[in-house]
Amino acid sequence: MKYVSTRGYGPMSFTDILLEGLAPDGGLYVPESYPQLSTEDLPALREILVYEGYVRLAAEILALFIDDISFADLEQITQRAYTKAKFGTDIIAPVAPLEPGLWLAQLSQGPTAAFKDMAMQVLGQFFEFELARRDQWMTIVGATSGDTGSAAEFALLDANRVQVFMLSPLGRMTPFQRGQMYGINSERIVNITVPGTFDDCQDLVKDLNGDASFKEHYAIGAVNSINWARLVSQVVYYLSSFLQVSRGDAVSFSVPSGNFGNICAGHVARMIGIPIENLVCATNENNVLAEFFATGVYRVRASTETFVTSSPSMDISKASNFERFVFDLTGRDAAQTASLFAEALPSTGVIDIRDKPYASDPAQVYGFRTGVSTHHDRVATIADVYRRHGYLIDPHTADGVKVARQYRGAEPMIAMETALPVKFGKITLEAIGQVPPIPARFAQVLDAEQHTVLCDGGIDQLKQIIISRSIFR
Ligand SMILES: *Cc1c(COP(=O)(O)O)cnc(C)c1O
Repeated sequence: MKYVSTRGYGPMSFTDILLEGLAPDGGLYVPESYPQLSTEDLPALREILVYEGYVRLAAEILALFIDDISFADLEQITQRAYTKAKFGTDIIAPVAPLEPGLWLAQLSQGPTAAFKDMAMQVLGQFFEFELARRDQWMTIVGATSGDTGSAAEFALLDANRVQVFMLSPLGRMTPFQRGQMYGINSERIVNITVPGTFDDCQDLVKDLNGDASFKEHYAIGAVNSINWARLVSQVVYYLSSFLQVSRGDAVSFSVPSGNFGNICAGHVARMIGIPIENLVCATNENNVLAEFFATGVYRVRASTETFVTSSPSMDISKASNFERFVFDLTGRDAAQTASLFAEALPSTGVIDIRDKPYASDPAQVYGFRTGVSTHHDRVATIADVYRRHGYLIDPHTADGVKVARQYRGAEPMIAMETALPVKFGKITLEAIGQVPPIPARFAQVLDAEQHTVLCDGGIDQLKQIIISRSIFR
């Protein structure tokens, strides 16, 4: 299995693209073609899930896309990523019935109580495996507004060949998020606070990556959501959720969306032959994606047009994985995709596919559905689900459930639970009049001693911090 860029570069092997971010031509890596499951494969995969478990199922799916790591090694990787100690359950991603026709895929049982653990844990193991094989090390430098940073840090906590420098906006994360990230006490994980916003953090990371010799000297890499290894790991839980709910007939999924990573994995799941009727793309007030699926026009927002909402992990102005979907939409035409993303988008701020022969109705092309959920909807949905079912959902999951209910059809609808409410006390209090319970495994989070380094001196100070703290140089 080889990989190509959505703009034409390649082919490359999986382990080559693993340690890279964007392709050199600015595109995103995708498999040259999608492997295909047949209808006979599905019962066999169900047996694997039931009798051998999620770890083995994950290795089977990864093996469809990866031929330069042996199956035995892939199985070791998934075994280390998905342990009962980390996820509190052997099933790893259980599916629970919520109400007639509607299920919840519980993807947030991992170490940081958000679904990002599902992919990040595998990515951490892939890094460690490949760096050991090459006898190399790597310095991850990233920026986070909350969930991604902590998921990355917990995934790389035990990685001997990786050190993490994570920038976060000073005082802007929730107390739980701060406790969780800054509570880590390890020379491998350096939490850097920056006065300002998430965008300021991200600008510093960009500046740093602009210094080619510094970047090379410290082997600086990233863990962002465009990494194919993260995306392919997410395909597994679409399959496991399908297998838990259906004996073979198609199901639909509702996905709280921001960077289009999670739902893009759903798209890939469908492309390899998992029976999926509709993929419901739920957004919050930041409705870039909903607007596209409703109109065929994708309009990137300025940061001043990006709202701060009560489902903050979906507050995006552009959806970084979206190019992968458009590549498929064009019939996998790299020249078309390059002209849309490298020419039309930078010059007009818009991708408009309304007059393209392949997409007179983008929502119909691959059975996408879409809807917007607002703060009012989140509060009402959290309250309603709690009152009717005694089940407390987080605000992102609430966006997904709200829109899922709009599209309930004859087929089972599975809503993705992308975080646990413990991370979002304020809106929970508003919705049900009490703060969310703290699961036992997070009892110490708020009390832990916090470890951070302040960076208020711009790029030069950031470099100084990396130079003085690096364990590899
Ligand atoms: C990241 C995140 C999302 C959005 O997922 P994308 O893959 O970026 O679309 C939704 N909910 C939560 C809790 C998240 O952390």
